[in-house]
Amino acid sequence: MRLSRSVFVLLLVVASCGLATARTCSGNDLWFAGYSTPVFAAAANSFETHNGPLTMSIVKTPTDGGIKEDFPFRFKARFEKWKAELLSTDIGREQWEKFAQNKQFVLTIEISDQRGRGAGTDNFEWDNKGNFVGATIMLGADLEDGFPDPVYYPVLNSLASEPAVYTINGRIVAATKITHELGHVNQVAAANMQAVQLQNKLIPLYNSIFLKNGLKTTDQRLLELEKQMGGTPVVIWESREYWSEVNAMLYLNERISGEEFYCHVFKKIKSNLDSYAREYGKRFAEQAGPRNIPCWK
Ligand SMILES: [Zn+2]
Repeated sequence: MRLSRSVFVLLLVVASCGLATARTCSGNDLWFAGYSTPVFAAAANSFETHNGPLTMSIVKTPTDGGIKEDFPFRFKARFEKWKAELLSTDIGREQWEKFAQNKQFVLTIEISDQRGRGAGTDNFEWDNKGNFVGATIMLGADLEDGFPDPVYYPVLNSLASEPAVYTINGRIVAATKITHELGHVNQVAAANMQAVQLQNKLIPLYNSIFLKNGLKTTDQRLLELEKQMGGTPVVIWESREYWSEVNAMLYLNERISGEEFYCHVFKKIKSNLDSYAREYGKRFAEQAGPRNIPCWK
């Protein structure tokens, strides 16, 4: 049986998430680099990244919110360097300050060795009036290294250095990954709680029917769920990733515009999109176009 890309990824998503609870199957971006072929890179990354339900909870509205750095002191120095890279751009500063100054929202930043070169965003919180009031970004201690696959991470992937031609500072890589994660928080902030709850409820149901029906995405029940959720679980997940990649691209456009490798990076982003995500190219082009990125062709 030949599987389409979306069915193939969905299978891996189901294999990793199964019918698990939100606790064991949640969040975005638990990826690792190092896979050699695009299809398996996507699959392997999906295996880690998956599109399971986001972890949601209802909490009291915070009154002393802002950004909470919740990590061991030994990570402090490197985090300050990543943050300085982020804050050296208007886009990074605006997004950071928006959270830093919001007393009714807690953005928690964690750093751990276990995350390695990856990152993730989860533990989304709302208050009982439905206001979005908290999220956690989890960063790997080795965030300066590692480039996820080009299929779902066309922007982060473009930062791999070409040793003979140019080298990109790891701090820029780390800051770009943080911008990608901020993109996830921004997206949930823009969604409403009911929509996220509905997706959380229906995704496991969709996966369970899909596994039992012989992997037929044309099943009427699945089409109905798709309509209610606004897409298949894979489409919902990949759309989240590509929006976060748009955020990463906008940061890069500002941060590296004066660097000799600017065009190398943006040509690679464009080529990754053309090769693996043609249907999302318009989303990126709409953001890139008005900014007159000179090498966007
Ligand atoms: Zn992501």
